Amino acid sequence: MEKLNMIERWHQVREQIQNAAKRSNRIVNEIHLVAASKFHTIEKISSLAEAGQIDFGENYVQEALNKQSELSHLPIRWHFIGRMQTNKAKNLAGNFYLLHSLDSLKMAQALHKKCIERNIIQPVLLQINISQEEQKGGILPKQLTQLAHDIFQLNGLELQGLMCMPPYFDDGEESRPYFAELRKLKQELEAELGKTLEHLSMGMSGDFIQAIEEGATLVRIGTTIFGSRPAKQS
Ligand SMILES: *Cc1c(COP(=O)(O)O)cnc(C)c1O
Repeated sequence: MEKLNMIERWHQVREQIQNAAKRSNRIVNEIHLVAASKFHTIEKISSLAEAGQIDFGENYVQEALNKQSELSHLPIRWHFIGRMQTNKAKNLAGNFYLLHSLDSLKMAQALHKKCIERNIIQPVLLQINISQEEQKGGILPKQLTQLAHDIFQLNGLELQGLMCMPPYFDDGEESRPYFAELRKLKQELEAELGKTLEHLSMGMSGDFIQAIEEGATLVRIGTTIFGSRPAKQS
């Protein structure tokens, strides 16, 4: 079989997303493909955006800002999906359509402060360390209610949902229970806050089908579209 190029792989992923949505009786338009473009070139991102891809996810603030300025002529919505540090709050607030990986009150306060100064409201998701692995980003499930209440007091931020990253498995089916757990946490939080939360950001190259079947509204896919990532440039 002939090797598919990037645009063909992107079409294939979109088709798989549509099929998974239909199978699980979900509305296709409520599922957004975020192309995880860390370490991938401006040229690749630009070709994909020209083909019609809108949402791109980046992990490193400086790399993301460079790409934003190079590609400012394209109608891209930039998402931040990497680890957050308080000293980067000034470059995060207002520069991204959605921040997926908020995981501390300290970071929330730093972002809120910048948002108030700039008179903007920044949409955010809370990252949950769903597998409770030591080295992983995200808050523990038991910290969620309190942190969500605290964030609700910060009017520079708008909490729109939850994000998770299960451990890596060769078989995407093994991620399913973690996705189901995140969906349950969101439902409980909605009841607690008396407010619906729009987003569940979950599912990557190896498990996005299962994530959609379990309720994902944002799937973050890199390798399946772009191919393997080059090593980080220093
Ligand atoms: C890199 C990355 C992805 C995409 O991973 P792939 O396996 O390449 O699809 C998704 N989410 C986050 C947080 C990432 O850092």
